[in-house]
Amino acid sequence: MGNAPDTIKHCLSSEQLVQDYPWLRRWLLEEKTLSGHEYPKFVKVVEVGPRDGLQNEKEILPTGVKIQLIDMLSGSGLPVIEATSFVSSKWVPQMADHTDVLRGIQRAPHVQYPVLTPNIQGFQDAVAAGASEVAVFGSVSETFSKKNINCTIDESMLRFQDVINAAKEQKIPVRGYISCALGCPYEGHMEPSKVAEVAKRLYGMGCYEISLGDTIGVGTPGSMLKMLQSVMKEVPANALAVHCHDTYGQALPNILTALQMGICVVDSAVAGLGGCPYAQGSSGNVATEDVLYMLNGMGIETTKDARR
Ligand SMILES: [Zn+2]
Repeated sequence: MGNAPDTIKHCLSSEQLVQDYPWLRRWLLEEKTLSGHEYPKFVKVVEVGPRDGLQNEKEILPTGVKIQLIDMLSGSGLPVIEATSFVSSKWVPQMADHTDVLRGIQRAPHVQYPVLTPNIQGFQDAVAAGASEVAVFGSVSETFSKKNINCTIDESMLRFQDVINAAKEQKIPVRGYISCALGCPYEGHMEPSKVAEVAKRLYGMGCYEISLGDTIGVGTPGSMLKMLQSVMKEVPANALAVHCHDTYGQALPNILTALQMGICVVDSAVAGLGGCPYAQGSSGNVATEDVLYMLNGMGIETTKDARR
């Protein structure tokens, strides 16, 4: 991981970038006027490294190291850091220390620390450990769902409904993930209409934001465009996020395409941590520092003063 959080801190400020490289100012202005696209002025970057990234690491990391990583990421000014997963340690041993991690971090004001809660048991454990935001993780691929979370898509929706109902009672926001939105390691191509259907269900159930995951990184700007066009018929752009993996070097172009479509929430993992254990050759999440470098290079804000 090296000094990745420092890199982020540096990249977070476009002011700093211009200060370091004065020639960028003219280029930034030119780019704004030359671009034929409307881009969002602010993009919320959701850091998923401590959960999505670390859960794919074979070696179990000490709890203290995880806490230190999250605290350093908090200090970099990121607005959302997914901290851990309240999944059974039988399935994901790397996340067995979820309660200690969540209790051990220094919570920075204005930073959200969502945690993954695959079922009601996980939700209750998460709340007991102090979670103030949770996420559920579904799939658009029936085979991936069975292999990854051990149930059909319909069964997963019933579990999520329990979590969402309980969360509503406690006024805890729920984020929804959809994996395999641009392709599945078992079923291959995914129909955009199927992604739209699952997104509509999760949104209708009460998820405030739906993160569309290219879990194995096979998407291109072409398939991203088609998928978003379909999903946006059912769910408004301001309730959508994209979650890109970089297997074929397509993550940044895919994110750029999403921004052009009006999406303003992007998931990423520090140092490009992560991967998909079920898909051979799939590489990690898009690196947070690369996303921030691109966004700041485009003059798009990634922190708000109020969030610092
Ligand atoms: Zn991921």
